Order: sequence, then C-alpha cells, then structure tokens
Amino acid sequence: MKTVFFDIDTQIDFLFPAGALYAPGAEKIALVVSKLNHYAAKNRIPVISTMDAHSENDPEFRDWPHHCVVETMGQQKPASTLLEKRVIVNNKLGAFSIADAHQILLEKQTFSCFSNLNFANLLDHLKADRYVVYGVVTEVCVKFAAFGLLETGKRVEIVTDAIRALNDETGATTLADFTAAGGHLTQAGMIYA
Ligand SMILES: [Zn+2]
Repeated sequence: MKTVFFDIDTQIDFLFPAGALYAPGAEKIALVVSKLNHYAAKNRIPVISTMDAHSENDPEFRDWPHHCVVETMGQQKPASTLLEKRVIVNNKLGAFSIADAHQILLEKQTFSCFSNLNFANLLDHLKADRYVVYGVVTEVCVKFAAFGLLETGKRVEIVTDAIRALNDETGATTLADFTAAGGHLTQAGMIYA
C-alpha cells in the first residue's frame, strides 16, 4: 500500500506560544511531527508539508490575525521538521519536479491544500492508497486536508497525538465528524511500529 504523509502547517506562528496564531499546547507535537517526517524519509514515504504563505495584505487577515507572512520567522517550519531532500511547490500552476525529494513544501494562501493549483497533479503523480494526516490546527487546515482527501476514496488516518486545535471542543467535534465520514484515527506509535 503506497502511503503519503501530510504534515499540515507546522509553522512557527501556529506551533509556539510567541506565534501569531498559536494553538495551545502545539509545541508539544513538534517532536512527534519531526519523528513522523524522519520516519517517512527513512521508509521512502513522501511527506507533503503544507505551508501557509501569505502576503502582507492577504484577504484571510480580514478574519484572522496576521500570520505566516512570507519571509517572516513565523512562516518558517522548525528545522527539526525539515527533511534534507525537499522541494517547494508554490501556488503558480506549472511544471514542477519532485524528483527524489522526501519532502514537498506545498505553499497555499487559504485553509485548504486543495487550493494550491498544482495539488491535483501532485496527488495524481504520487498515486497513494493511504494518507496519514497530522499538524495544525485540527479544526481548520487539518480538517480541510483530511476531509478533502476522504473524497478521493482512499484510506485517510489522522494521528491524534500529532495534531492540536485552537479550541479543544471544536477539535473534538472535527474528529468525531471525520470518523463518522469514514476516516480513521491513529497514534504516532502505531505508525512507527
Ligand atoms: Zn492562513
């Protein structure tokens, strides 16, 4: 079974208390995310690491605090979650080459990774049967990725000890809705095993 990992928006603005849109407790998942990403590299499982890449006046900032502006510290991913062989797939439709990259940094300007114009081609190219999703925040970008991937008809798993919500209650509701829609919940220890 071919697996692809989705490491959603694990960027400094979401992960750490000083970040612009901090999900409480998210710094605690950084180590697990790093382990999952490195496990994937070792086992030749592609990791799609989505990244918010906003401009200074991004329309999203009408509803959310200023976060993940390109070239700011908050937009970066912690070094521990980066893999050696990585490529950036930006949101300009065009040819991209992932060659032998372990990690695909997929830039996006909205909640959903499906909004990246190259994303559909990327999914086609990877031909996975199973998607493993983790990162932040549960009730927004993790949700959009997981539910969008469910629509492909493939197996989708959320790693419950490698996600964090802005609000615990809405996070729990998201997971309940996800399993009701046919999604699976797992834990990092089950993935490494
Ligand atoms: Zn954003």
